[in-house]
Amino acid sequence: MSRRRKVQVQCPACSHEQSVSAWHSINVTMNAKLREQFFAGEINVLVCKNCKFVGELPLSLLYHDVNLKFMAYYIPAYQLEEDDLYKTFKTDGTFASPLPGNDADTANPYGPHIVFSMRELRRYVIFREHLAGRGAAD
Ligand SMILES: [Zn+2]
Repeated sequence: MSRRRKVQVQCPACSHEQSVSAWHSINVTMNAKLREQFFAGEINVLVCKNCKFVGELPLSLLYHDVNLKFMAYYIPAYQLEEDDLYKTFKTDGTFASPLPGNDADTANPYGPHIVFSMRELRRYVIFREHLAGRGAAD
């Protein structure tokens, strides 16, 4: 499933505070529109209502494509310093327990591919989609 929450964000340009809708996870098989928004750069982005500043929110994001059987998980680099991050995973890099509200997704047998930037997340999704499109070549 796809899951989001409201976060309180302060604009880095003008300090205006506003509430922004942010995604924990997107399941693009259940909701294809989220895939479009992901590639349009509209997922977990702040658009300041005051000064129109546009910037990425430094929040983790699970991308799940059920048909192509992969999950990719973006972890903002600053979280590498936080102990809680490591409780999320087993030592083999699979999820230790389902992410909150994502039982169905994170209980899947394949572990998440981990990336540390949204740009890399997009690249990985493109790679997997091209790989799947190769079809009979393998
Ligand atoms: Zn602003």
